[in-house]
Amino acid sequence: MLQTVYWRAPGLLNVRLVIDDDRRRRNRRTRRSSPMNVYDYTARRRMRKVLSALVCSAALGSVPAIIDATPAQASTAPAPSAYDCGDAPARFFQLRDGNATDGYSQLWSASVTGPESANPTFYDWKPIHTFTGVKPVALAARDIKKSTNTVSPGWVSYVYFSGTDKNLHQFRWAPNEGTEWRQDQLTTSNLWGYKALAWNGRLWGVKGDTSTYEGDLYVATGLDNYEDDPYDTPSGQYVVKNNFGYPKSFYGVTGGNHQIGFANTAGELKYATTLGGYQTSTVRASSWNAGRTVDLGGGLLYRFLGGTTNEVKRYTLGAIEGSNTGMGTGVVIKSGVASDDAPTTTVSDLCQVSTAPTTEPVAASCSAVTASVPIEHTTLVSGPTGYSFRVHKCLAPSLDRLLDAAYSSGHILKGWGFRSYDSQVQLRKEHCGTSYYAIYEMPSSQCSPPTARPGSSMHERGLAIDFTSNGDPLNTSDFNWLAANADSYGMFNFPKERWHWSTNGN
Ligand SMILES: [Zn+2]
Repeated sequence: MLQTVYWRAPGLLNVRLVIDDDRRRRNRRTRRSSPMNVYDYTARRRMRKVLSALVCSAALGSVPAIIDATPAQASTAPAPSAYDCGDAPARFFQLRDGNATDGYSQLWSASVTGPESANPTFYDWKPIHTFTGVKPVALAARDIKKSTNTVSPGWVSYVYFSGTDKNLHQFRWAPNEGTEWRQDQLTTSNLWGYKALAWNGRLWGVKGDTSTYEGDLYVATGLDNYEDDPYDTPSGQYVVKNNFGYPKSFYGVTGGNHQIGFANTAGELKYATTLGGYQTSTVRASSWNAGRTVDLGGGLLYRFLGGTTNEVKRYTLGAIEGSNTGMGTGVVIKSGVASDDAPTTTVSDLCQVSTAPTTEPVAASCSAVTASVPIEHTTLVSGPTGYSFRVHKCLAPSLDRLLDAAYSSGHILKGWGFRSYDSQVQLRKEHCGTSYYAIYEMPSSQCSPPTARPGSSMHERGLAIDFTSNGDPLNTSDFNWLAANADSYGMFNFPKERWHWSTNGN
């Protein structure tokens, strides 16, 4: 098969390379079997080096940009050094042929490349995989890694998806390796039914109802070790924001630690971060509910506008960390685009991948904790009797004082504090049933005993305690002491449960 690669240098010649792909494949086979055939391999590497030099020079503000590459652009992908240039190529992934209920049957990919100064070009979409069996419902592109296969070096993309089986899967795409594909199922508990996914050094997901625009925002844990083998297994999940809604677009903000971008149903373009507790900032206040938006990396946004215009616009972001200062007005780069051609999830190449996430900071103030937290955000508080409670770090000092004060008044308080999101899921299984609906969606009041939906309990935030009287149900004397004193330590009773005390009474 012949592959055609065009290089366009404005004001200069168009350069056209024709690569005999069958010959390359034959050579690769030969290379595997015979270490003598080094020449062709070296020549190929040399050609890569030339391509990468061109891309590097483009990034420095001169020419040229890659214009087209068919059929699989990655077979002519620039060598690693090109990715250090600053303006990296990016790759889009998209699901087609299906819907968010029954799943999609096809995975497509397209690319964008070249620096801003060279007017980046949007490649054509190409189908890269057909799913049979479990189908993906939502996907997020993780990152691109260099293959460790020294015979066939190249770049490997990793794509997460949540499937119709409500499990998390990972898909490995290595175009340089020809037909090599790998698909792994990462979870088995059927509790990962995300309707939207985004990756930015961590996996964000939205579960909810796409018709009513109700949904909660989640983060998966155990997937955030950037430099490790991308085949991490998620260790858990927790809710970052209840009632997040269901975003019109949802994507990882490349280069911004812990940030996602999304457009909500009010048409606001926002960025969200979990730094110091869940926070959002508004990038655009209106008119962003149409179409889809993705982060291209390198401070660029792509936006597909639906309706009558059907344009793809590119925006520059002067300040991707929060504010809208410096956001450009947008340049139309393609008109008359079919909705299928709208950019969706993006993976940007190495320049952006180099921004590894740091350990998530712990909220300093309990009022900033608005959803469940990982156990790392909690600590053990040992009271005067040596009995320990696990609570959010923000609550530890005042709880410590409360326990001291109670003890000096003759009250020995014990009980339970933090409960992980996964523990809450376990409780729901025991109290409400084991179906996905029973665990995640059934109203608390229909469970026996009533048990809060995962993500909505103050215990999951580390901000609630169920007190006992030295291990026995809370007695009247201890309750009365708490009722008279707990508020001065920031703890309030939930009227329906005399044992349950939290920072807001919920
Ligand atoms: Zn409780």
